[in-house]
Amino acid sequence: MSLLTVGSVAFDALETPFGKTDKIIGGAATYITLAASYFTKQNNLVAVVGGDFPKEMIDLLEEHGVNTNGLEIVQDGKTFFWSGKYHEDMNTRDTLITELNVMEHFDPIIPDSYQGTEFLMLGNTVPATQKLVIERLAKRPKLIMLDTMNLWMNIALDDLKSVLALVDLLTINDEEARLLSGEYSLRKAAKKIMAMGPKTLIIKKGEHGALLFQDDRIFFAPALPLEEVFDPTGAGDTFAGGFIGYLAATDDISFENMKRAIIYGSAMASFCVEKFGTERLVNLSQEEINSRVQEFVNLSSFEIQ
Ligand code: AMP
Repeated sequence: MSLLTVGSVAFDALETPFGKTDKIIGGAATYITLAASYFTKQNNLVAVVGGDFPKEMIDLLEEHGVNTNGLEIVQDGKTFFWSGKYHEDMNTRDTLITELNVMEHFDPIIPDSYQGTEFLMLGNTVPATQKLVIERLAKRPKLIMLDTMNLWMNIALDDLKSVLALVDLLTINDEEARLLSGEYSLRKAAKKIMAMGPKTLIIKKGEHGALLFQDDRIFFAPALPLEEVFDPTGAGDTFAGGFIGYLAATDDISFENMKRAIIYGSAMASFCVEKFGTERLVNLSQEEINSRVQEFVNLSSFEIQ
């Protein structure tokens, strides 16, 4: 099944306890499409970059089977730039700089060849842009999944609520779930958020795993305890890309299959954090992915006599 991803393609500057980078390639849609490339071959991207974005990186996405016909290049514009700093506790980070640049007034054009997509991943970007993408699809996808962040809850809440009403699945972290709902209990927060539109909700808890909510059902997926987390940037997007890539590959959006998808997403995210930026994601093998998934199975399966 085909997957369409929209979201930021960016330059990031990162600082973690392990080191510092100058501008490296990042962005929600970059991580999502790279992670999804290990599952689905019909991997279509809609995003915008400036003339300063390196052609080699676009080639790299193409080499991973990502269709970049929908990647607009604004020659005289600057690519979205984000800078963040992590402390010892890598579950929280400070955003130092967000420069929307070409992303601010992006008009997402959907190439005709992308129409009819069965799976839509609205990665983190301006909520009004996310909504425009839905409106421009001739046929409603089988599953629309959305990721967002605290920035949009703070500066574009009405737009965010209006797109939330149109999506099937929302993925956010625990802090954002509390901000969006005004509830501390994640169970209460989930109820309130699902009443805003999405029938399914994933709340990510960083190194403490992720919760999947649908109706009255809850499933919990652990994160793999790693000896070293080098750089958590993109873990949430990589998780989303692995999750929806797996759903698209299996063409099954049942709750049972979402449980498997969440494990695949978590496995992909566990690779992402092992190196800076997208480094670890660009040359994984199927064997590595399968054996990592098995580690997740071993981590939490037990028998009760
Ligand atoms: P994650 O660590 O999965 O939450 O996502 C990190 C990525 O999100 C980075 O590569 C950033 O370029 C991107 N990002 C950060 N802030 C924003 C924003 N306001 N809109 C879109 N993408 C963003």
